[in-house]
Amino acid sequence: MPLRFPGVEHIITSDRFLELESLPRRIVLIGGGYIAAEFSQLAARAGAEVTVLQRAGHMLPHFDPDLVGWLMVKFTELGIDVRTQATVARIEQTANGFLVQADGAGGKQAVTADLVVHAAGREPDLEELDLATGHVAVSKGRLELNEYLQSVSNPRVYAAGDAANVGPPLTPVSSHDGKVIATNILEGNLQKPDYRGVPSVAFTVPPIAAVGLNEIQARAQGLKFNVKSENTPNWFTARRLAERVYGYKNTGRRRNGPDTRSAYRRSPR
Ligand SMILES: Cc1cc2nc3c(=O)[nH]c(=O)nc-3n(C[C@H](O)[C@H](O)[C@H](O)COP(=O)(O)OP(=O)(O)OC[C@H]3O[C@@H](n4cnc5c(N)ncnc54)[C@H](O)[C@@H]3O)c2cc1C
Repeated sequence: MPLRFPGVEHIITSDRFLELESLPRRIVLIGGGYIAAEFSQLAARAGAEVTVLQRAGHMLPHFDPDLVGWLMVKFTELGIDVRTQATVARIEQTANGFLVQADGAGGKQAVTADLVVHAAGREPDLEELDLATGHVAVSKGRLELNEYLQSVSNPRVYAAGDAANVGPPLTPVSSHDGKVIATNILEGNLQKPDYRGVPSVAFTVPPIAAVGLNEIQARAQGLKFNVKSENTPNWFTARRLAERVYGYKNTGRRRNGPDTRSAYRRSPR
């Protein structure tokens, strides 16, 4: 996804990050999604001083904010400086690295860095396809499709995966879409994709995972449900890994009885 601010030419992509031959001492990651979460932990655990500049109010906006809050305890333990509501405004090259300047609700801030990584998202590379000439409608950088994954403006065109404006941008979703499209092209429009129950994981340590609706989404749909959440560092699976940030939150079909929630608390060592 192109970022536009002065000094943007100094940032590297997440692909380049994985090709580095040595680890810079001070790293700034722009963005707060899956890639920023995974790479910031990777770099911090390998010894770098890491700052995350995230425009939104918290990291990993696709996950339940309560669970993300629990995970942030781990980020703090690792020494990762997560700054939310911080939008990068410019990057200047200095004598010994870069000065990354950000604006946001917290006011102006500046972070020094040896490396600045673009972790603010990807978008499909549609430009070269010249879709306008084929009358293929695009909306917000993705192909505009009907329920059969067929272009709304050119019925000869179908799209799957990240290029489609439906479904989450995940590998299993793109292969699921591919099967739907193959059927629809070969046999006529018969299949619609089904994204219910697509699980998602950010491979932090501990990993954070979700499936189904979270509390906010369930509330937005007006559903009746109970919330059960618990911080479980004493479970065998947590103790086996010596992991004290451990827990779950479940929004399930409403049964009689109150919600049961426990706030995050540190377990005794
Ligand atoms: C760092 C990173 C980590 C990720 N981790 C996960 C994860 O853990 N789990 C998960 O489910 N998803 C993950 N994803 C997302 C996942 O990679 C994508 O959702 C998935 O690859 C989308 O598949 P796709 O087939 O739609 O597109 P792509 O895999 O991007 O494939 C598109 C292909 O089209 C080619 N192409 C582009 N333009 C043209 C052209 N003009 N002509 C011919 N070929 C062209 C490209 O070179 C590319 O090979 C991650 C993504 C990134 C960047």
